[in-house]
Amino acid sequence: MLSISHAATGAFIAVKIGNPILAIPLILLSHYLEDAVPHWDAGTGLGSGKKTRSDAIKHGIVDLILAGIIVLVFYYPRFPIVPNLADASVRNFAPYWGAFVGLIPDFLEAPRNFLKYEPWFLKPLNKFHHIFHHSIPSAIDGLAPQVLLLIILWIFR
Ligand SMILES: [Zn+2]
Repeated sequence: MLSISHAATGAFIAVKIGNPILAIPLILLSHYLEDAVPHWDAGTGLGSGKKTRSDAIKHGIVDLILAGIIVLVFYYPRFPIVPNLADASVRNFAPYWGAFVGLIPDFLEAPRNFLKYEPWFLKPLNKFHHIFHHSIPSAIDGLAPQVLLLIILWIFR
């Protein structure tokens, strides 16, 4: 899925759970489950000749920037980035570390997708990621479930 979807989901889970020991595994699980939903994302079409590497990188960067903006729009009012230092706790930064954790499986795969570089220790993880990943070429059909997801996350945030 798009970074927007994974980051918003990670932020949502982190905010709801609060405790990173519980939240982190759940956020990672959410990434793999969301990728199993047929979707369109920045890497869709890469490798099939339908999309160039530089287009995928550009889309990926725009996606990441939008992911950051969405997380801020959802959570900044309740979670200012510089919280009251007397009350600084992991919970105060939940949307931000949650969003980051939500993107980890894609960050680990990025060197392979975009630079054709894959260190041996990432191969098993990327293979695992690939088992779940189900993208479809139609942007409209592939974005619909993600728009729905964002609406639900927004309502319950
Ligand atoms: Zn993924």
